[in-house]
Amino acid sequence: LKIGIIGFGRFGQFIGKKMSAYGFNVMCTSRTDYTEIANKYNIRYLEKEDFQNEDMDIVILSTSIHSFCKVFDSYPLSFWKNKLVCDVLSVKQYPFEYLQEKIGENILCTHPMFGPDSAKNSWMGKQFVYYPYHIHESIQSAYETFITFWKDMGCQLIRMDPQIHDIETANSQFITHFIGRSLENFKKNDGNISTDGFNALMKIKEHSIHDSWDLFTALAQYNPNSKKNIQTLLFKIHTIYNKLFSIKNEESSTSKIFNKIIDLQKNGKRNIINCGAGVPSWKPPIDTPCEYSTSKGNSVLIAKIIDYYRKNTIFDCE
Ligand code: NAP
Repeated sequence: LKIGIIGFGRFGQFIGKKMSAYGFNVMCTSRTDYTEIANKYNIRYLEKEDFQNEDMDIVILSTSIHSFCKVFDSYPLSFWKNKLVCDVLSVKQYPFEYLQEKIGENILCTHPMFGPDSAKNSWMGKQFVYYPYHIHESIQSAYETFITFWKDMGCQLIRMDPQIHDIETANSQFITHFIGRSLENFKKNDGNISTDGFNALMKIKEHSIHDSWDLFTALAQYNPNSKKNIQTLLFKIHTIYNKLFSIKNEESSTSKIFNKIIDLQKNGKRNIINCGAGVPSWKPPIDTPCEYSTSKGNSVLIAKIIDYYRKNTIFDCE
């Protein structure tokens, strides 16, 4: 197969050298001149104008997620015709919808779920998610040979809809990156003591910070499910923190009196004169809380907050 890689950064090099060693005829182009590195792997580095004029069976987009559309649009539409257009972005709905709209056929969206750190020595058993879309007869053989390459590398092939991919990776890959990045200030102690669990966390941190900041931010911004998962995680962290460290809530005497008044009113007592500060002498014409609530909070509001978290997070709210 003749394969062209656009974007010869960390990941482009990682897959390019394997493809070249496998026997594919690999060429690449990038914003930066990677001639020297490419030569080492028996790959031809070409300037964009020369790359564009080459004949190839498959073109792989391995640019950053942020620059994906810009890079795609910098080539004439005719360039993408009559070849398999493959992307390896770590988010899938975004490039799939873009390619679907722009070229509409011969698309192979993929996400090798591993990288230069996690699969340094072998790709055996690593997951390769893919989703072919409207592949022509004439491209079929290139497509099959390409898929066979990943199988031969020992990857576990998983055909998956881009939308499902994004839901699942936001829950796994992104959260891992997020935790890894959050551990940036933690390091192994100078002494030799450490637990296996902590060592595993340090490994996650190393893997996460080796990947570019661009990649990390894009995982957050271009996967619609990522933000929700961070919120869920933060909510859980706060809950645990509060359980661990919250000072026992000694109710103030003011609050005790307020609670008593509210209880009495609830139980039907009339003519209670509340001389507390912050009790309005008139009420707004809408049905909304306008007085101090009990220290626990307003029950209507509490029910709404619980409902919100139930719908928007994956954890049950106690
Ligand atoms: P990245 O930071 O996501 O992308 C770096 C690549 O994007 C480089 O080739 C860089 O070109 C190019 N690039 C960045 N900004 C650009 C711009 N404004 N215009 C043109 N090109 C630009 O790091 P990466 O790890 O190499 O990832 C590449 C792709 O592979 C991403 O889409 C990522 O989601 C996917 N992927 C990565 C991994 C991983 O483990 N790292 C795993 C699976 C999939 P220059 O180097 O020439 O500047």
